[in-house]
Amino acid sequence: MRIAVLRERRTGERRVALLPEQLPRLLAAGVEVSVESGAGNEAGATDDDYRAVGAQVSEDVLTGADVVVSVQPINLSTARQIGEGVVTVSFLPTAEEVPLVRRLRERRITSFSMDLVPRTARAQPMDALSSQSMVAGYRGAIVAAERLQRFFPLFMTAAGTVRPATVLVLGAGVAGLQAIATARRLGAVVEAYDVRESSAEEVASVGGKFVQLDLPPLAGAGGYAREMTEERATRQRELLAPHVAAADVLITTAAVPGRTAPVLVTTDMVAGMRAGSVVVDLAADQGGNVEGSIPGHEVMVEGVLVWGGSNVPSQLPRPASELYGHNVVNVLLLMLRVGALHLDFGDDILSATCVTHAGEVVHRPTLELLG
Ligand code: NAD
Repeated sequence: MRIAVLRERRTGERRVALLPEQLPRLLAAGVEVSVESGAGNEAGATDDDYRAVGAQVSEDVLTGADVVVSVQPINLSTARQIGEGVVTVSFLPTAEEVPLVRRLRERRITSFSMDLVPRTARAQPMDALSSQSMVAGYRGAIVAAERLQRFFPLFMTAAGTVRPATVLVLGAGVAGLQAIATARRLGAVVEAYDVRESSAEEVASVGGKFVQLDLPPLAGAGGYAREMTEERATRQRELLAPHVAAADVLITTAAVPGRTAPVLVTTDMVAGMRAGSVVVDLAADQGGNVEGSIPGHEVMVEGVLVWGGSNVPSQLPRPASELYGHNVVNVLLLMLRVGALHLDFGDDILSATCVTHAGEVVHRPTLELLG
């Protein structure tokens, strides 16, 4: 059996699905690995590094591949080059990839989406959404510290005392908690808010101070948040406005599964911050938590710098690939039995992550989406 590691095609994607150090676990399971030439370049892994651990490196990895792994979904033309029954493993946000899902079905490709890994204890080593959110949260705090024209920590020196920066984090899921922890390590005073009830304890556990608003929690299914009503959104913005105005740095990460990101902060609220403050919107790719943020751009709003994140995990390609690759290896090992591909759809992780198989869309919400 042969696993092919693709060179990423999507502009700006610098990660690779598997790094050389991750291959021994697969090779030991009795499979061959071929790596498309240059696949690891942006993540700091050369073709020779892959060869050194026993992979083949070539320009054509699709011919003879049983499993094709990538970070981003394969594109339509790659899907045309893949044969029936071949397995793909990648992120595959099906709502954004409807034409590709149709092509995968038509080509009878068996596709698995890393976006669909269930959030169960057993699936944690495969949870790529969490691993990449962690990278994004860390990067968000570092970007803010670098852009802010003042110190994060308190300094007490003979030349005087400098107060620490105040960081406000909105949305304290995996990315938000990592942003809080990183900003704390840099010495900032950190406050955070989230709509989930369990959040106060989680924020405190990484050294943040939870902002209590006079609003009911908004828990949805599976530990995720629910969408806000317009009335709730307006009230939440009113209550958060003084906290936003007092912050030197605002980092936003709020998301609701299957929806565009909620607008938590208006342009007026940004304009109410001190000149020189920094806003990092990690949800910019999903529509943005901050009005006016643009993915991949920095804009100035009344002296406040607003940084819109775009594929933020890819900005730290090496560690992001290390974590993603680890997740992918664990998924692949579920599919192997004595060196051969063995798809056991009785396995809850494999059944939850499969999007297309044998000419059918097997992921029910995606099937409904296709109509
Ligand atoms: P996410 O990326 O879907 O959203 C980020 C955060 O935004 C969430 O904490 C959410 O509550 C918050 N949010 C949504 N609307 C908001 C609003 N209007 N105002 C403020 N905050 C808002 O979240 P995530 O990082 O994927 O985590 C979601 C949940 O899943 C958390 O409870 C987390 O602990 C849990 N989780 C569990 C596992 C596991 O069990 N294996 C793994 C990862 C995450």
